[in-house]
Amino acid sequence: MVRETRDSLSDRPWDLVCVGTGISALTYGALRLREAPGQRMLFLEQHNVPGGYSSEFVRPKQGARFDCSLHKLTGMGETGNLRQLFRELDLESSVELVFSPAWFQVAGGVELMLDQVPSRMRDALCDAFPDEAGAIDAFLYEVEVHGRNSYMQFEVMLGRFEPDFKALRVAHRTLKIITVLDALRARFKDPRLIEILSLPAIYIGAFPEQCAFLYYLHVVYASLYERSAYMRGGSQQLSRLLVSQIESMGGEVRLKTDVEQVLIDPDSGLATGVRTDRGEVRADRVMINASPRYALETLLPPLDALAPHRARAAEQVTANATTTLYLVLDCPPESIGLDHAETMVLADDPLAALEARRQARAQPTEAALCEPAYWGASSFEVTNYHALDPSGGAVVIVNVLDDIRHWPPRKTPEYRQKKRRVAEQLLARLDKVRPGLRGHVRYSEVSSPRTYERYTRNSAGSGYGNLVLPEATPNLINHNFPVRNLSFLSAWISGSGYEATMGYARMLVRSAPPARLARTGTDRSF
Ligand SMILES: Cc1cc2nc3c(=O)[nH]c(=O)nc-3n(C[C@H](O)[C@H](O)[C@H](O)COP(=O)(O)OP(=O)(O)OC[C@H]3O[C@@H](n4cnc5c(N)ncnc54)[C@H](O)[C@@H]3O)c2cc1C
Repeated sequence: MVRETRDSLSDRPWDLVCVGTGISALTYGALRLREAPGQRMLFLEQHNVPGGYSSEFVRPKQGARFDCSLHKLTGMGETGNLRQLFRELDLESSVELVFSPAWFQVAGGVELMLDQVPSRMRDALCDAFPDEAGAIDAFLYEVEVHGRNSYMQFEVMLGRFEPDFKALRVAHRTLKIITVLDALRARFKDPRLIEILSLPAIYIGAFPEQCAFLYYLHVVYASLYERSAYMRGGSQQLSRLLVSQIESMGGEVRLKTDVEQVLIDPDSGLATGVRTDRGEVRADRVMINASPRYALETLLPPLDALAPHRARAAEQVTANATTTLYLVLDCPPESIGLDHAETMVLADDPLAALEARRQARAQPTEAALCEPAYWGASSFEVTNYHALDPSGGAVVIVNVLDDIRHWPPRKTPEYRQKKRRVAEQLLARLDKVRPGLRGHVRYSEVSSPRTYERYTRNSAGSGYGNLVLPEATPNLINHNFPVRNLSFLSAWISGSGYEATMGYARMLVRSAPPARLARTGTDRSF
């Protein structure tokens, strides 16, 4: 049972105190305590539930459970990295995995179901775009070779997988330095096919003109070849399971405890603990499960020794935030055309969308440019949670990539109006591809990037960490960090998604060589 009491935090130093209880912190704690039983580990969380994005909120009157992030866990096939990690954590017997037959359904202009089995996915694409069959095969070959090498990076670091070094060199020279959009344009002719194949970039909070092609290939490999699954009960269930493991092994998780400062001893240069809104906690080691940029700007003192790291963190480009429309329908979504767990709605005009985003990025506070670019013109993701787990209600969730900078402060009339506008626009677009759906909505609500920022403290409200741009600067945050007993873990240093964050936590537990850890920022796509 997670503690919420206001009792004083222990005077005796902890072996480790962790700021935040996102999925990476919880994974780290559960794995570390297995390897080092008896360690005194304390996890502090400012929110009133554990898990960060790996959590849910409920609306009992609507009979609805809304998941904050879990649509699909990649790497859940028998040989997938995450499935192996689930085994190590003894989670398999406690969870029920749902493998959807569809990778995703495409709607808007083209209607297509892309199967999760690569050969069937290939056939569906070749049927729809017969002139591009050769290019589709060549693309899938790139996924199999380069996507796989990149996907196996944790295994390489653990010394369990020998990559094809020649392919690796080619990938670094040619695939890492181009964007998804440029790569797809060089490989395919049909703009519709290019747009469809661009869609998985959404899973990492990126538009195709932003994301490095090699990183994208690994995401496609992870979804298709290592399979993705939903966990019945949703992401809160995963976080709860990890919390109870931590607590059963003697660790502690405290909610509603805001860490205000990491304490550094000026003489030794080492962290001595943290100051919270409930008092000070002393610890031999500190771990931060929050954005390094936020930590360096607000949690750590302005020491000169940290200046280069602060500068490096500031150079990273934040992945796009999300705006989410949560819907409860009066009927099963499958009965009105949302046949599969996931539907990707295509842009009406991908070229116009690209130009609209270019303008929005040039003036990111300008609502008149940003709203049409992100909400009106770009493709977006619709998840039918009912198809995955009907016990959560007739729930459909719509996600668009967005930018916090054009959102006014919360609780202002402008903010409320803006929420109404986004709900209206997204519903209208959804209704266009699934006519009549709107008439079945009996409840709706919106989470903006500001909501996400409030509940997770993540910079810019992004749930995906930093963008993996082709020109990305190295993220050396854990390497040669001047405060030697402090380290970072989270999507902000390991790449977005449960598989990347949980995998990174596992790697930290295994104490992978620091030189390797150091390059995760860019070398997450080997
Ligand atoms: C809309 C959306 C959908 C997604 N869907 C998927 C999906 O289907 N599959 C997938 O694999 N991934 C998905 N992701 C990504 C995935 O959710 C994230 O990569 C992952 O959950 C990030 O985990 P994290 O450990 O970095 O921590 P976070 O979830 O960012 O948690 C950080 C925690 O630290 C706490 N904290 C921060 N500062 C402090 C402080 N000072 N004091 C105390 N506590 C603090 C926060 O409150 C929070 O709980 C999605 C993300 C979003 C936004």
